[in-house]
Amino acid sequence: MRASAIREAMKLAEQPGVISFAAGMPSSKVFPIERITAACERVLRRDGSAALQYAASEGFAPLIDWVVAHLSARGLHIRPEQIIITNGSQQGLDLVAKSLVDPGSPVLVETPTYVGALQSFAPYEPELIGVACDVEGPLSADLAARASALLREGRAARFLYLLPTYQNPSGRCISPARRADLAGVAALLNLPVVEDDPYADLWYDEPPPAPVATLLPEGTVYLGSFSKILAPGLRLGYLAAPLALVPRLLQGKTAADLHTATFNQRIALEALGEDFLAEALPAVRHLYRERRDMMLTALERAFPDRRLLDWTRPGGGMFIWARLPQGWDAAELLPLASSRGVAYVPGAAFHAGIPDPRTLRLSFVTVEPSQIDAGVTRLAEVIREAERS
Ligand code: PMP
Repeated sequence: MRASAIREAMKLAEQPGVISFAAGMPSSKVFPIERITAACERVLRRDGSAALQYAASEGFAPLIDWVVAHLSARGLHIRPEQIIITNGSQQGLDLVAKSLVDPGSPVLVETPTYVGALQSFAPYEPELIGVACDVEGPLSADLAARASALLREGRAARFLYLLPTYQNPSGRCISPARRADLAGVAALLNLPVVEDDPYADLWYDEPPPAPVATLLPEGTVYLGSFSKILAPGLRLGYLAAPLALVPRLLQGKTAADLHTATFNQRIALEALGEDFLAEALPAVRHLYRERRDMMLTALERAFPDRRLLDWTRPGGGMFIWARLPQGWDAAELLPLASSRGVAYVPGAAFHAGIPDPRTLRLSFVTVEPSQIDAGVTRLAEVIREAERS
């Protein structure tokens, strides 16, 4: 159901002439094509035999070392043996569920949460339990109540799936104080945390707080991605897990695909080099900050009193999360919106429990700046038209 709802939305979004705020894709402007071309050439000429050969399931050791250094700069001190290079962080989600979930076992998720994680967990048949959230993220009291109730029933939650930083879809970033509260609850109740963190480097106002994993090093599986800092087409991500869990995750990884593409791992490392991110990320942030600000300005202009639409102001990431008035349904409005040339993703699919049909996700990074204002104007016209009818 969920997958088909999103597919339907994407189909509408892809029609010619539609300004689509639906796709959560990086702007292709930020892809370092020349650098990757040169990296391919060097990798093939210098290490061609190894780059085209089978390799270890955990990943290419020098790339793992790069990940260790990258995480260390964010205050997360991980040993290389804790890391597995995955086929995108999406595979990390699958491996975690494959390793930790049995049919019917409880998994706690945010409300809303990343629909791709819900899809990834679904084949392992967890009982998904939504934790109540406010604008700052999950409420620690609700998390404690739900996790303890499960413990009393003798079926501990297998993990809490958490996106602390510029969440997909809501864009919100959990404050340091809330992170500490949530980590405190998790530690007290022995609740493992799966921290999904692909957007940490995409901050536009100030750097985000340290990962939750820094507060719970023994109890967190941390998932990272190269998709937003290099290119999603390389399909490269990584997980950092407590040592005791690594063999099980690795077994799952080997069973799934033996290893992440050797060639891609070597190209990524070659392209990243010592200094690529330090040079490139400021420009990426600048581009996306400008687009975020344009969309926020356009929304303020189109809905000055916020009566027909209210929205979040993300400090990073790719998404603005918006809400229609009471009683409205963003999925029902989408065909009209796309017929008027604008698209978004309805928010219901991002809910594990009771969906909030009023919500919708607007991506501000993919659409060209010249189109952002026009798209928001169309959205406002559609919403006003629906109100009148
Ligand atoms: N987690 C979240 C929260 C995401 O938004 C995405 C990408 N949309 C992923 C994981 C998967 O990213 P990738 O597999 O490209 O690393």
